[in-house]
Amino acid sequence: MRFKLFQTFTNYMDAHIVFGRFQDVGIRCWLKDENIVTINPIWTQATGGIKLMVAEDQVEEAQNLIAEFIEEKRARFRCPVCESGNIEYISTNRKPANWFSVLFGFLLTSYAIPLQIWHCFQCNAEFEEPKEVVSG
Ligand SMILES: [Zn+2]
Repeated sequence: MRFKLFQTFTNYMDAHIVFGRFQDVGIRCWLKDENIVTINPIWTQATGGIKLMVAEDQVEEAQNLIAEFIEEKRARFRCPVCESGNIEYISTNRKPANWFSVLFGFLLTSYAIPLQIWHCFQCNAEFEEPKEVVSG
């Protein structure tokens, strides 16, 4: 069984949400460097974060799931600046400023990692984490 680095997380919760979803649908995966990051978050930068490893033959399936996951997130989240729901998760050609920026950056294709970032079409703000809509 060969595994590929699928995604890197600096956030323990996000890593486990995606990991849990993948496991639910039978994608073989595991989290690398999880313990290091959990014990001391400062080491996140040094280790490059929690790495989600996915079985090579299931990478495509995993990518589809991530797309769904982002869609769901998009439906629930708002721009933190103007609270508009008119936000998209887009790629930019900018270099990641830090490891947090590559939260959803796929490390599959090349060295030039396209930075994924949320963009608000209402006020043109760009942000790494949208504001969550509290339901109820
Ligand atoms: Zn906005």
